[in-house]
Amino acid sequence: MGRPTLEELRQKDAAHHIHPFTDHAQMHREGTRWIKSGDGCFVIDGEDRRLLDGLAGLWCVNVGYNCAAIVKAVHRQMEELPYYPSFFNSTTEPPVLLAEWLAKQAPPNLNRIIFSNSGSEATETALKIIRAYWKRRGRPAKRKVLSREFAYHGVTLGATSLTGLPTCYEPFDLPLEGFIHAPAPYAWHARTELGSEDFGQETLARTAEIMDREGPETIAAMFVEPVQGAGGVIIPPPGYLAGLRRLCREREILFVADEVITAFGRLGCWFASEREDLVPDLLNVAKGITSGYLPLGATLVSDEIANLIQESGYFAHGYTYTGHPVCAAAALANLQVIEDLGLVERVRDDIGPYFQKKLSGLASHPAVGEVRGDHLIGGIELMPAGGRDALQPGMLLGLQAAELIREEGAIVRGIRNLIALAPPLIITHAETDQLFDAVGRGLDRLWG
Ligand code: PLP
Repeated sequence: MGRPTLEELRQKDAAHHIHPFTDHAQMHREGTRWIKSGDGCFVIDGEDRRLLDGLAGLWCVNVGYNCAAIVKAVHRQMEELPYYPSFFNSTTEPPVLLAEWLAKQAPPNLNRIIFSNSGSEATETALKIIRAYWKRRGRPAKRKVLSREFAYHGVTLGATSLTGLPTCYEPFDLPLEGFIHAPAPYAWHARTELGSEDFGQETLARTAEIMDREGPETIAAMFVEPVQGAGGVIIPPPGYLAGLRRLCREREILFVADEVITAFGRLGCWFASEREDLVPDLLNVAKGITSGYLPLGATLVSDEIANLIQESGYFAHGYTYTGHPVCAAAALANLQVIEDLGLVERVRDDIGPYFQKKLSGLASHPAVGEVRGDHLIGGIELMPAGGRDALQPGMLLGLQAAELIREEGAIVRGIRNLIALAPPLIITHAETDQLFDAVGRGLDRLWG
């Protein structure tokens, strides 16, 4: 029997497959988009079009789509031992070596690692460790958790509650009690007259007010993406992250860095927490740890918290696939490739600055209200003809622009009235030109 045709696949998909983050009625009307294969920074779609992937899958395919070293490592591990749990005093080799690698590379106080299968599960694991920690320290009233508007921390109940996007939490009657959203340093959205640094300071003052109103003795932790990604590529102004860290430290609120997008090179560093000197109490990663080749999340835990947890007797948490040997083998191979190709330094010194230069070049386009970015991540706020004041609720210029840019040969993400870009770290200068040319043509059409 031959493989199904594109039309057959679309029919089967419409009949049986529920997609994440999708308007199913619209997708069934227009036909599911099919991706057949990938190669470097490109994917090939069901109609054999070669598309430059300006979002690296979902901000994760850091080494590109055809990394033989990862495939080989996965194959080798599959042959040797496809699975064995890390429950009940057991383990396999790859997660141990990966934990050691992470402890060496991460900020110095984070030496103990618990694995999971996704960013959401890493969030959930951190939430449970934090509750256990404060309980064990005799302060069970420290239960509330802070995050920020426009934050994205995943989709499980706790993670959705932390996520500061109404489209994500409202349909599910979330957030749960005790999850509090502080303001984000999103100056464009606030339409503030203040400069970005002053707006950052104002945001901090409002965050401090929330902390003090709720009572620091009831707040367990604050979750923070160093750059807010899925919420709209919100780049913190100078002084803001250090200020936020200080607010938490002064009030004994644990600081959790969610580096699911920012770790492993996208910002020209292994960990943004190190670059920004955040010294987090916990740090979550996923996505780029395997370049998305296999599912894996990890929560890095400070020595103080890990000691308390490990001294507390039986630790009743973990997933069947916690520390999965094949996923960990994929991660080890991926991290080795990032090291061997010097991708972190390349993003920091070469392609990151080049990408930002190209991004800034779009700032003068009439459809563009603001560009924001940090190394290999970028956001472009869009405006209709008539300018910003002509923006109407439900306009979704970002989605329209992403559609046009796709027709021009590149994939970007539309979010509300902005587009987000986060290509693989291996993207060349010529491919970066190609990406921004496609974006420019798409925006010309959006405007025209
Ligand atoms: N945290 C951040 C910062 C993310 O960007 C994401 C996903 O985009 C998550 C958590 C959730 O990760 P996952 O989709 O693997 O559950």
